[in-house]
Amino acid sequence: MNEKVVEMTCVVCPIGCDLKVTLDENGKFLSVTGNKCPKGAIYAKEEVTDPKRILPTSVKVIGGELPLVSVRTEKPIPKRLIFDAMKVIKSIHVNAPVKRGQVIIRNILNTKVNVIATRTVKENRKSP
Ligand code: SF4
Repeated sequence: MNEKVVEMTCVVCPIGCDLKVTLDENGKFLSVTGNKCPKGAIYAKEEVTDPKRILPTSVKVIGGELPLVSVRTEKPIPKRLIFDAMKVIKSIHVNAPVKRGQVIIRNILNTKVNVIATRTVKENRKSP
């Protein structure tokens, strides 16, 4: 059997354990070593089977002091959905004012994860 070992760093806590993940010849998760706690094993398995990431980006603002507001997903979403999520986020706009923490898109792509604003954009009072 041709097993493959993948090395990665656990990012779940600041300790940053060096993990060695063993996969079978089909890339299926077999085992993990180097984790000081069970969270590291869960992280390693997810990272090789369905990795997830926080998606930071921006959304157009209409009538704001700034033309864009920075946003991010509240929680990590599957990496395989990042491209489609970007398409959804780039296709919308919000009206000023926008408050930091405001939900911009609820349950993006049925992930049960919201996209939220990470800064405040006030209304542009100079606009006609
Ligand atoms: S394996 Fe556990 S102790 Fe090590 S970095 Fe991950 S969460 Fe922290």
